[in-house]
Amino acid sequence: MLRAAEIPHAFTTRAAGNQGRGGAGDPQAVRANRAAILQALGLDPAHHVEADQVHGAVVAVVGAKDGGRCVPDADGLASAERRTVLAVHAADCVPLLFADTRLGAVAAVHAGWKGVAAGIPVEAVRILRERFGSRPGDLIVAIGPSIGPCHYEVDEPVMERMRRWPWWREVAPVNERGLWQLDLRASCVRQLVGEGVRPERIDVLDLCTYDHPELFYSYRRDRATGRMAAIVAMSGTPTGGNG
Ligand SMILES: [Zn+2]
Repeated sequence: MLRAAEIPHAFTTRAAGNQGRGGAGDPQAVRANRAAILQALGLDPAHHVEADQVHGAVVAVVGAKDGGRCVPDADGLASAERRTVLAVHAADCVPLLFADTRLGAVAAVHAGWKGVAAGIPVEAVRILRERFGSRPGDLIVAIGPSIGPCHYEVDEPVMERMRRWPWWREVAPVNERGLWQLDLRASCVRQLVGEGVRPERIDVLDLCTYDHPELFYSYRRDRATGRMAAIVAMSGTPTGGNG
């Protein structure tokens, strides 16, 4: 749906190389890989803003003054400034991109299990609503490549934090080892729908990063590995209006 709305965005694969400063790889290669993908999207590297990603639930509002920055203590970024390019990086964690074409606002979020348990998708909707006036029903959300429940066994310390969500049983069936197979993507969708995002406006890429070594980096599979980027920017004119 982001594509239909003509929102410049991307979820990169291994074909775009390592996009993240963390993990394996040298900074120069990362810079070159980033420049290439931004150029392909027609976006200006000088307006690129990334989150430092500490597995928290903070979504920071950024703009032109933040071009080139890595925002500390944030796992999500939101902006209503036209040229600002938002990027988060992941290799198993869930990347989420948000757009409100009526107001011209976007957000990018990184959600690992800690962020999911802490409710960062909910926080992103709240920030878009409170800071920009977005109506949840207007939002378009895309959920990118991430580890599937098939390869995401978790233990009690994880579930202890997930049980705050009333639907936790539905996203974490018990496996034959007495542990849980946590569905991070479904958890994100639950949170978004709970905030009023319409299910038909959420696109979920149903591909497990662990299952596709040819396409994706996976931390759980490879440990020392690269990072894929999720990138979004607002371009064009907000459709505006109150309708
Ligand atoms: Zn899998």
